[in-house]
Amino acid sequence: MTVYFDFPFFNKVTELLPVCPVCGSADLRDKLRVQDRSVSQETFTIQQCAACGFQLTNPRPSAATIGKYYESDAYVSHNSAAQGLVNRVYKAARYFTVRRKVRLITQLNGGHVGNLLDYGCGTGHFLAGAKRAGWQVTGLEPNDRARHDAAARVGQPILEDTALAALPAASFDVITLWHVLEHVHTLNDTLAQLLTALKPSGKLLIAVPNAESLDAQHYRQDWASYDVPRHLYHFVPATMRRLLAAHGLHVTQTLPLPLDAYYISMLSERNRAAERAGGPLAVLRAGYKSNQYAAQHGGQYSSLVYVAERAAAGR
Ligand SMILES: [Zn+2]
Repeated sequence: MTVYFDFPFFNKVTELLPVCPVCGSADLRDKLRVQDRSVSQETFTIQQCAACGFQLTNPRPSAATIGKYYESDAYVSHNSAAQGLVNRVYKAARYFTVRRKVRLITQLNGGHVGNLLDYGCGTGHFLAGAKRAGWQVTGLEPNDRARHDAAARVGQPILEDTALAALPAASFDVITLWHVLEHVHTLNDTLAQLLTALKPSGKLLIAVPNAESLDAQHYRQDWASYDVPRHLYHFVPATMRRLLAAHGLHVTQTLPLPLDAYYISMLSERNRAAERAGGPLAVLRAGYKSNQYAAQHGGQYSSLVYVAERAAAGR
């Protein structure tokens, strides 16, 4: 059950999850207060489940009202025309990561191209790269502007995210969610629908920020990947494994997105109070240290790609 109410400060319809979406415990405790620096300037509470450790933005804007919190040119993943140094760096990094991502899914699919679903495809750069490499691609995207951009870039219709339930069952070799699952209100329902669309031996790839990374620990409430209220969940490896296990999946590997440590450190420095904010050297140092820490501490990178398959598939 979800409780809806008008939160007077936000003056928008907000919802409060009464129990943990991963384990069902009602013991949710306030952990951190974080300000939305990119759009509303409002402050949100991150709660942590005392039973399983899952972290979530709670209360949060409802699915019907959260659109306002995406209405900013600063939200670059939805806006190809955005300008500025951060965005130029982001685009350069994206070019390299598209190639790396396409190589990764092909390798995970036994070296072959196949049927790919990219859920939350944004402006379609990855999807277009996969299609060029020979994949049969399907893209779903809720944001109108991003969806139209993606359709032009990929050269085929891109569907709304609500089309997920209508996709043919057991039809995809690989399903990807690149920095998407942390935005999805209906977490468990969406995972269940994605699994219906996945072939029995298919691979599910979920990339999300890691709230246990060194850059998360270093920047704390200024860590750009908290990105409240757009990020509804703040995963760490243990809670992601637990969530996926509840859906009959096991994580076969976690892979780093090492450029994210630099990109997120750059945004996080901007979030710091002026007297504490560092310049490019501070960004490089924070990003480098985060990746070094991850290499020495069980792969706790700034963002992680979880590769999951059905628990029975590997046995
Ligand atoms: Zn829990």
